[in-house]
Amino acid sequence: MSQNVRVRSRGTLNPTASTDSVDLRHQVFGDNPLEVRDTGHYTHEYVGGIVDRWDELIDWDKRADGEGRFFIEQLRSRGVRTVLDAATGTGFHSVRLLDAGFDTTSADGSPQMLARAFRNGIEHGGHVLRTVNSDWRWLTRDVRGPFDAVICLGNSFTHLFSEHDRRKALAEFYALLKHDGVLIIDQRNYDAILDGESSSGRTYYYCGAQVSARPDHVDEGLARYRYTFPGGDEYFLNMYPLRRDYLRGLLRDTGFQRIDTYGDFQETYADAEPDFFVHVAEKR
Ligand code: SAM
Repeated sequence: MSQNVRVRSRGTLNPTASTDSVDLRHQVFGDNPLEVRDTGHYTHEYVGGIVDRWDELIDWDKRADGEGRFFIEQLRSRGVRTVLDAATGTGFHSVRLLDAGFDTTSADGSPQMLARAFRNGIEHGGHVLRTVNSDWRWLTRDVRGPFDAVICLGNSFTHLFSEHDRRKALAEFYALLKHDGVLIIDQRNYDAILDGESSSGRTYYYCGAQVSARPDHVDEGLARYRYTFPGGDEYFLNMYPLRRDYLRGLLRDTGFQRIDTYGDFQETYADAEPDFFVHVAEKR
């Protein structure tokens, strides 16, 4: 039975999201899913089954092996102590950062993902996560900074569908950083997908061996992915296919002075090869 309730969370100032009915059990894409190209729609996507099964998709142990100490070393080498995990999801990076001793605040716009992260924090090391339910576009309203670092990982920024929203979110991240702070943001290699070039096939993010994550539809304005789990359950995410240099340009426009882009955690790579890019953007 579907449970239709009104969700008015502290972090959702978005006028549409705050009054929309969100079905907490089922993803809702309406009659024409390919027309769903809306920044606020993630609140209808990270609900129910995909939240319950997200950790099967990412596989914490394999993902930790794949990324190694990349993020921890990026942060440590800059003397970072306080971190805002802006896209906490189910808490993978928040827990890794807490394990490594960083003072971590965990934000996300999906209350269900955050609730799962809180439970995961307790179960993985007894961490009581400091969680904030907040949409990036209004983050400074809900979160008190400044932080040494903001991270937005796991191909999360791709959920913003308009340039205005992307610029707004980056401005919020920038405002929450100290004068010498660093933003670490990643993205799937959509250039390779849009340009029809094969990527390496290596998997660093969606590591669950039993789960398939495949593009269902891709055009310049939409990457709709289908996630199929053992037993046949299927979920979808509608995302905007960000091009690497476009995002680098936005970071520069926001005011970041130095932007280093890594391909699958390596400094040098062939353009079409990496599965993911990671941008490390310094404010100073
Ligand atoms: N970082 C986690 C990981 O790597 O497993 C989660 C990644 S998941 C692909 C994207 C997350 O971003 C979801 O938890 C979603 O709720 C959050 N998100 C998407 N758009 C958002 C927005 N506008 N404001 C706040 N959170 C958002």
